[in-house]
Amino acid sequence: MRILLVGAGLSGAVIGRRLAEAGHSCRIIDSRSHIGGNCYTERDAETGIMMHVYGPHIFHTDDEEVWNYVNGFTDFMPFQNRVKATAQGGVYSLPINLLTINQFFGKTLHPDEARAFIAEKADSSITEPRNFEEQALRLVGRELYEAFFKGYTEKQWGCSPTELPASILKRLPLRFNYDDNYFFHRFQGIPRDGYTPMFDAILDHPNISVELNTAYTPEMAAEADHVFWSGPLDGYFSYELGHLGYRTLDFERFTYGGDYQGCAVMNYGDRDVPYTRVTEHKHFSPWESHEGSVCHREYSRAAEPGDIPYYPIRLVTEKALLEKYIARAEATKGVTFVGRLGTYRYLDMDVTIREALDTAEAFLAGNDSNEAP
Ligand code: UDP
Repeated sequence: MRILLVGAGLSGAVIGRRLAEAGHSCRIIDSRSHIGGNCYTERDAETGIMMHVYGPHIFHTDDEEVWNYVNGFTDFMPFQNRVKATAQGGVYSLPINLLTINQFFGKTLHPDEARAFIAEKADSSITEPRNFEEQALRLVGRELYEAFFKGYTEKQWGCSPTELPASILKRLPLRFNYDDNYFFHRFQGIPRDGYTPMFDAILDHPNISVELNTAYTPEMAAEADHVFWSGPLDGYFSYELGHLGYRTLDFERFTYGGDYQGCAVMNYGDRDVPYTRVTEHKHFSPWESHEGSVCHREYSRAAEPGDIPYYPIRLVTEKALLEKYIARAEATKGVTFVGRLGTYRYLDMDVTIREALDTAEAFLAGNDSNEAP
């Protein structure tokens, strides 16, 4: 079959590879000038440092098959994300752990003491948290919430944490020991030479052709037997029902003649600091050695048409609109909507790959509900 895949990010590359291996002819197009979507990495022209161009990407998963899959295409180096946070005049360890609690409150608590101490601070009157703020107050109490979550979240999402779902906070652990690894997952790492060579390897198959700087046209779909769409879901329907909301990011680059902040990611909890975090890219490749340094200050704002979409907002208004688009997508035979943009969900890389592998298998087995009859 002739398969058209729109988007050369994780979904397009992984599905394309699987279908190519099964003998299908896969044409992958991308409107950008490079493969890899937002996972794209490249060396900084001035310093040679590997840049996570669209923000930090740390691979973490419990899915052994997905871990083996990515390792089959590139060498991963061990990497654990140890984030720091500047807030209220201090620097603390994230996610909130025993060191954070002891330093923030000027204590020397042991794990059980800290657990009891935080239980006193936590708002036990909230039994069923209805939003992000209630979830945070119930978990850690007002002081930690205001230092680490409130300002950061207002900046990140551009609204009050009372308007956001509690589920966003559930991404972050709270620990009563000194474990400061940001993620729980068994397998964690970053490709030795960045993510782009991994995409090169996935896409390196005789049945795959990749066209960059190429915008989708309906004529392309007409030439194909099936389409996998990993572009924005509303974009496929020419935004006829309206725009689904996204947050976009602006990165302000600056260089430094040494080690700027001593870690890869420094979050800023205070509302009066306009950026959410600073990433210092050489610390994502600690196996390399660089004298100089390149950093990004990261600013979040509402995406306007033409901006790169990053985080789906999924508030009440978006959810209503999303349901309408999903109904349209389900009724569109011959097109399967995949990935973060195609399904308007905030997906980690490992989940995106898992879903892409499953989507490809379902298609090959004739179980894709969007397959044309
Ligand atoms: N968050 C926060 N303070 C922090 C880090 C995260 O309040 O220092 C909140 C914020 O609302 C964010 C959410 O927790 O959107 C999830 O954080 P995560 O680090 O998973 O966000 P990502 O790195 O994916 O942007």
